[in-house]
Amino acid sequence: PPDATLVGLIGAGIGPSLSPAMHEREADELGLRYQYRRLDLLDLDLPPERVGDLVEAARLTGYTGLNLTHPVKQIAAAHLDTLSEEAAVLGAVNTVLFTGGKSVGYNTDASGFARSAMTGLADAALDRVVLLGAGGAGAAVAHALLGIGAGTVRVFDLDADRTARLVDRLGAHFGRDRIRAGATGGLEAAIRDADGLVHATPTGMREHPGTAVPPAFLRPDLWVAEVVYFPLETALLAAARAAGCRVLDGGRMAVYQAVDSFRLFTGVEPDADRMLRHFDGL
Ligand code: NAD
Repeated sequence: PPDATLVGLIGAGIGPSLSPAMHEREADELGLRYQYRRLDLLDLDLPPERVGDLVEAARLTGYTGLNLTHPVKQIAAAHLDTLSEEAAVLGAVNTVLFTGGKSVGYNTDASGFARSAMTGLADAALDRVVLLGAGGAGAAVAHALLGIGAGTVRVFDLDADRTARLVDRLGAHFGRDRIRAGATGGLEAAIRDADGLVHATPTGMREHPGTAVPPAFLRPDLWVAEVVYFPLETALLAAARAAGCRVLDGGRMAVYQAVDSFRLFTGVEPDADRMLRHFDGL
């Protein structure tokens, strides 16, 4: 390609993000000129509401595109010229591509989880899936599950309004019989009836230790997918392994969302297996 690729990550407190290393290393391997910069709202002293200005500044100053993370994925969606179907349904964007003077928003968290599940849980039953967490990650996971053919998704979150909004949005798109809010206190019964469980709350991160799913709810013929990847081995994954469950960690979703963003930014197909190996070494 004639031009260097210049990408930025917008978010708050993004110092620990592994995205710059993942993208730049793969570009090096492919012989591409590629710079991935952090645009941290905390360092820039900008509130999340100014994300539209920052996106426009990046466009005007020649950025190829942007990744967006907490807390701007939803706010930014309103400031873009066009949204992909996934991003429009979710109302959330994690990747922006500037093309022909326009900004186009995508959601590669959704496509990233879909590929993660298809490779890491190949042939697993998807008839009944329980999803814990209806935030940004949970919404992307729900879209991915329904897109790859899950029969029904039952959503649980401490925030009932948030759950209802997600169920409404995705139900309108995929069919109201395919996604429902779980009953209060009904997690154990829902898991008993389910083929698999996806955990998409921050529980299990270093700042939020513990597990949102009592280990007693797990059994060997239940698969368990984790979205948290700081750390990769959460208390839930450890309990699931101990219970004999088939498990999928959050690392694959993180890598595949980067794979899909990289392809959008460069037009070049990255080597996903090499990126997975690189991520494992970070
Ligand atoms: P968020 O704040 O948008 O949503 C979290 C949701 O979890 C909230 O709705 C909250 O009410 C709910 N919740 C919290 N504790 C709960 C509990 N005990 N039971 C039920 N619901 C509970 O956060 P997010 O952006 O969705 O991120 C969630 C996690 O996913 C984070 O750890 C983040 O790092 C991770 N994540 C991973 C990837 C990846 O690629 N692997 C991508 C995005 C986010």
